[in-house]
Amino acid sequence: MTVSNFADLGLSDRLLRALDDAQYKTPTPIQQQAIPLLLDGKDILGIAQTGTGKTAAFTLPLLHHLEADGDRTKPGSTRALVLAPTRELALQISDSIKTYGRHQRVRQAVVMGGVSKRPQVETLRRGVDILIATPGRLLDLINQRCTTLSECKYLILDEADRMFDMGFIRDVRKISAMLPKDRQTLLFSATMPAEVAVLAGEVLNRPERVQIAAKTVAVERIEQRVHHIAAVAKRAHLAKLLESPDMAKVIVFTRTKHRADQVVKHLARTSIVAEAIHGNKSQNARQRALANFKKGRLRILVATDIASRGIDVDDVTHVINFELPNEPESYVHRIGRTARAGAAGIAISLCDPAELSHLRAIERLIKRPLKVVGEKPVEFKQAPGSQAKPRPGKPASGSRRRRRPGRTDRRAA
Ligand code: AMP
Repeated sequence: MTVSNFADLGLSDRLLRALDDAQYKTPTPIQQQAIPLLLDGKDILGIAQTGTGKTAAFTLPLLHHLEADGDRTKPGSTRALVLAPTRELALQISDSIKTYGRHQRVRQAVVMGGVSKRPQVETLRRGVDILIATPGRLLDLINQRCTTLSECKYLILDEADRMFDMGFIRDVRKISAMLPKDRQTLLFSATMPAEVAVLAGEVLNRPERVQIAAKTVAVERIEQRVHHIAAVAKRAHLAKLLESPDMAKVIVFTRTKHRADQVVKHLARTSIVAEAIHGNKSQNARQRALANFKKGRLRILVATDIASRGIDVDDVTHVINFELPNEPESYVHRIGRTARAGAAGIAISLCDPAELSHLRAIERLIKRPLKVVGEKPVEFKQAPGSQAKPRPGKPASGSRRRRRPGRTDRRAA
């Protein structure tokens, strides 16, 4: 069934007004599927990635319930909890709640690492309707008895697969166990590795499954190209690519924090301004870079996979994979940062011979070959100070210390 407007989904007048203010006309497929089930009080296992409208799919029914319940939040307690793997995602969810809840009186707070605890402690002590948190900091504050989850009737676990990648699953389990059994629980994940399926089985109560295939979201409208190029020559090649005036808003992905910093430094040497976001940057620096990028004051953002999770920026013209991810699903996440909101986009992957197995895994997942730019592997000039050109099929010197494929790099955030 296609529901062409939000009013038919049964949302409250206040929410409909907020949606009207935000100029949302038609619910997205995930919203059409999830909202009626959630309004009906069902638990949900949602398989959807950022860009599908999943945040509104879970926040709208939550705001509807909180308004209908009409309870008053007691000091030191929380009525609803949203757990997110990264600070950026937590802040984005908070922004969505502000947008959709603007005609309601909802008290919300974000609790996350990397910033001072004191204001968070004070807010929690007063009590909040919706708490959005990263797991580590929340556990810390619960241990300090700043809040209790015993009155929390709604639990939303967002991007559960990343929680697992980042080693948060145990914390998530601990936190879930602190909520009453009689609650509504939602788990959203872009992919469903076995560990996440196990967690879903533990925390959800007879869930309905809603699924928006990642591949159809991301891949179709994006022109995907691969440049075969040795690792040592990538930096110079990147600088050359970025000279194009078409590259108006670009995210460059690297696999590690260190490499992200190196890329920024190298670009600076060729007078190209870029900023990196990753887990070693202070929260302020990350937010500033992201805000500048969103507003168009910064053309190039260099990001690691984990730091980039949930980044919601419109009109990204190009995604450049400086290195291919070792998990093909991450490729889909990465390129999904472009071609949002119906726009077209271009994804360019720089592939060293040592990365060919990653490329093949990606092509298997998306069921199509990437378009090779140039008839044969791109010729390259030797980067300053580099070793000999790699022979075809041999790993480049710059890629020798590469980790084993298939292993998640937990330091990469
Ligand atoms: P999300 O998947 O939650 O990250 O949402 C992706 C983007 O789509 C966000 O910028 C939302 O503001 C926007 N969005 C979500 N739902 C709708 C809708 N029904 N109509 C228009 N834009 C939407």
